[in-house]
Amino acid sequence: MIGIFGGTFDPVHYGHLRSALEVKTIFDLREVRLIPSAQPPHRQQPTTSALMRMEMLKLAIKNQAGLLVDAREINREGPSYMLDTLTSLRHEFTTEPLLLFIGSDAFNQLTTWYKWQQLFDHAHIIVLTRPGFDSQILDDFFTERLTNKSTELAHNLAGKLYFQQVSQLDISASAIRKMITEQQDPGFLLPDTVIAYIRQHRLYQRQ
Ligand code: ATP
Repeated sequence: MIGIFGGTFDPVHYGHLRSALEVKTIFDLREVRLIPSAQPPHRQQPTTSALMRMEMLKLAIKNQAGLLVDAREINREGPSYMLDTLTSLRHEFTTEPLLLFIGSDAFNQLTTWYKWQQLFDHAHIIVLTRPGFDSQILDDFFTERLTNKSTELAHNLAGKLYFQQVSQLDISASAIRKMITEQQDPGFLLPDTVIAYIRQHRLYQRQ
């Protein structure tokens, strides 16, 4: 099984990295693909270029077995729709289940995503929840796909909805950008190699 973790990663931090590593172990994934979004369709465009965000990701996961950076959204023109990404992954990996990981905040917005129902044609969707998360009432489309048996993920290539609790660290990229802009030290929130890159390229400085 292959895990997929999308995001703007502006910059990548230990919240992302810890979750990616935890789900790799929990679901016994062959690999987790971290896919930086070139033009996120659902939020303000990042000020940092897609190439720089990808460079930071590469530095962050260097030497970490089983995590890899996937550049397909950056190599594509136009808005980075997850459906196009999953379609392309499915063409590449025809026989392995694909697990798309999203945070519970993103899940609450899922029905605004481009052709969101079709995401389930290509992958399972795993919603990462924090301890104490209470899943809201789901409509029929979701309850038909919901499972609490992780074995069903391995036995189907796509189509299931599954909730998984992980120990999400209270770190956000926006808080890190703000700290750097205000000349505070973001140490221990993201890898030192990424901090060095941010300093070298003077990212997130006051304009
Ligand atoms: P921003 O603060 O700019 O919105 P972010 O830190 O939320 O950024 P994104 O790149 O937008 O990071 O998120 C990519 C993915 O990582 C999303 O699925 C999001 O739910 C998840 N994520 C973000 N922060 C954490 C965290 N602290 N722990 C676990 N997952 C996280």
